[in-house]
Amino acid sequence: AALPPDIAALVERRQRSFGAGSVLFYDVPLKVVKAEGPYLHASDGRAYLDFYNNVPTVGHCHPKVVEAVQRQIGQFNIHSRYLFDVSHDYAEKLLASFPASLSNIVLTCTGSESNDLALRIAKRASGGTGFVVTQTAYHGNTSAVTEVSPSSYRNGAPPPHVRMVPPPDPAIFGNDVGQGFAEAVAGAIAAMEADGIRFAGLLVDTIFSSDGVFADPPGFLNAAVEVTHKAGGLFIADEVQPGFGRTGAGMWGFSRHGLTPDIVTMGKPMGNGYPVAGVVTRPELLADFCADFGYFNTFAASPVATAAALAVLEAIEEDGLIANADRVGRHLKARLTHLMGKAPITAVRGAGLYLGVAFGDESGPRADIAKALINGLKAKGILIGAAGQFGNVLKIRPPLCVTTDHADQLADALEQLLTPTG
Ligand code: PMP
Repeated sequence: AALPPDIAALVERRQRSFGAGSVLFYDVPLKVVKAEGPYLHASDGRAYLDFYNNVPTVGHCHPKVVEAVQRQIGQFNIHSRYLFDVSHDYAEKLLASFPASLSNIVLTCTGSESNDLALRIAKRASGGTGFVVTQTAYHGNTSAVTEVSPSSYRNGAPPPHVRMVPPPDPAIFGNDVGQGFAEAVAGAIAAMEADGIRFAGLLVDTIFSSDGVFADPPGFLNAAVEVTHKAGGLFIADEVQPGFGRTGAGMWGFSRHGLTPDIVTMGKPMGNGYPVAGVVTRPELLADFCADFGYFNTFAASPVATAAALAVLEAIEEDGLIANADRVGRHLKARLTHLMGKAPITAVRGAGLYLGVAFGDESGPRADIAKALINGLKAKGILIGAAGQFGNVLKIRPPLCVTTDHADQLADALEQLLTPTG
């Protein structure tokens, strides 16, 4: 499609500066001019309903977060080697949402830094170097974390210390997903140890978002965690995607499984767009790590970062967003499930406001349908993305303030696009 002149000019400027690193969405990229609640306003004069972005979890430009950041940045902003109240107010409030044993937090700026630190803590505690991850996982962009993020590999295989298992998909493991997944993890551990690599831990995104969204049945992860502990490894729960109430069942994806991880990493929604992330773990694991290495992060735990993050926690509570994620999520999942007979949908999965709709038929996974829907929905004013090994799973993760009306708008639009005459 020919791009409107203003968009074409910006795309050209972008490519000149950012080169091959520039990645854009959509045939006609969106130029954003404003955002509010679940809406992104674009330069074409339209307000797009945002079902893609899980960072602005309490809503774009939530007034509480805007106010907290503005107030604190006008007062003082400094690194964390000084005393100030707000980071303690935050740490205490956040840690209260964890099982009692997980009582220490290290603040960072990104999910990647959090996972990088989690790998280091797990290596120190286990004495191993080997990690098991799912085959389309994404955990971040440092050199160590890229190695445990198979979805980032453009060419080639993982290094020897990284072993991949399939996602916990009933289509692969049958009805007892938990048992099948645990056996795959056990097999991966045995294979690495046979190659002389000592196991350090299992790292998973507890909603398996980039693998294509796998949430059910709650509790299925337990068997794999048991296998991990028996083999002397640590279980690292990456909550960057499901954390902060998105599953509608408490604050954390792991709690849906009734688990207590050894290490939990978080990021994205934590500051509603302000870069703040963290690692939560047991005090003794952190103490062991710190005996060998210090950890300092200039911008992490700053007053502004923790003020933003505190406002997010307060907004989740005050706006009742966990209950809303549950209620609107159930409604949307029921409506999407209803579409199954009308289109080549092989599964509707997920929990709360993290849903996946997989497309496929006898020819296999149908990424073409997901791609056409992404552009078709944009034409109807709705933003959405895709995930999964084959890119055939629509990934639905709006700000948690969406209503059932917004959910109906998405379901209606999908129904129209999937109805051949529609
Ligand atoms: N873990 C998961 C599951 C993620 O989805 C991401 C980001 N997409 C990260 C970690 C990395 O976070 P960041 O981009 O903040 O480094």
